[in-house]
Amino acid sequence: MIKVGVNGYGTIGGRVADAVTKQKDMELVGVTKFTPDYRAKLAIDKGIQVYVPDAEVAVKFAKAKIPTQGTLQDLIKKVDVMVEATDSELATGNKDIYERAGVRAIFEGGEEHELTGFSFNSNCNYDAAKGRKFVRVVSCNTTALCRTLHALKTNFGVKKARAVLARRAADPQEVGKGPIDAVVPDPVTLPSHHGPDVMTVIPDLNITTMAIKIPTTHMHLHSLIVTLGKKTSAEDVVAAFQREQRIMVIEGRMGFKSTSHVIDWARWKERPRNDVYEACIWKESVTVVDDNELYLFLGVQQESIVTPENVDAIRAMMGTASQADSVRQTNSSLGIAEPTK
Ligand code: NAD
Repeated sequence: MIKVGVNGYGTIGGRVADAVTKQKDMELVGVTKFTPDYRAKLAIDKGIQVYVPDAEVAVKFAKAKIPTQGTLQDLIKKVDVMVEATDSELATGNKDIYERAGVRAIFEGGEEHELTGFSFNSNCNYDAAKGRKFVRVVSCNTTALCRTLHALKTNFGVKKARAVLARRAADPQEVGKGPIDAVVPDPVTLPSHHGPDVMTVIPDLNITTMAIKIPTTHMHLHSLIVTLGKKTSAEDVVAAFQREQRIMVIEGRMGFKSTSHVIDWARWKERPRNDVYEACIWKESVTVVDDNELYLFLGVQQESIVTPENVDAIRAMMGTASQADSVRQTNSSLGIAEPTK
């Protein structure tokens, strides 16, 4: 059993912790929680051992009558891998703690690539994570772009990729964030960081991106224009996506009219927290112009797309399973469909 701890039981950490408990080869030793709130109580109700960052926070938990098992320092002594899911600044500072304790750690993509020297996407570079002490699972948008561009690159070649990302302004519970009534170029100075971030995983890609923030909490939506390396048809491109792990080809004619309908699909599928682990590509949007210029819409559920990546990254670092085995186990535990052959 691989012993796993999670630092930061929030949007990402909570999902990864739950996913770890579903793996037959992993044990969730505990999570570190900063605030003594309903999420801390729910963790305990689920049987999760809750730790705190330090003695000061332990006092707050004691006052709230929420039992804790010790501090982060106590937790890291008991684990093989820590998943660091606080925020990128804290996480960057925590690397030293893990290094000193000799424990492996996974970071969540907001940090610089240089922090770990290795950025991970299961479809693209699983094997290269083997034996590494520190791995950075790339962020939600980068994960979706990596899966999509990996499928295109391996099937057709990619001469250049251009993307406009319409980004959700906040996660659903972030009530203090905006905009409520504006579209925000983010950043105004182009290009955005997303292209270079994809290149931390697929270095030889010609990619440029720009992003806007829109008043929604559900999902991101990318408009992608890719010049392929060879002539092809929209049908062949769709077939390539259907063969790629963790890409879901969705159809407007089946009711997927918007990102809200993707979330509704997850709700009706009774996915935990309405999670959509797959990168979602609208079939009807897949259009090839001039034989090799591809256009498409890509939907990304920011809170959950990296969950399976984290689970695979744990096995990849520990060297306990091949990519195919890990993906199969992770997919089956989370209810992600296997691609068509
Ligand atoms: P979040 O705010 O939902 O969760 C972070 C949690 O860490 C919170 O519960 C917070 O209370 C807790 N925390 C803060 N200080 C702590 C401390 N000292 N010790 C323990 N816990 C502490 O944030 P998130 O969205 O889960 O983001 C976590 C990381 O994942 C970030 O690096 C982010 O860039 C990355 N990420 C986020 C998303 C997303 O869309 N939310 C997607 C991909 C990657």
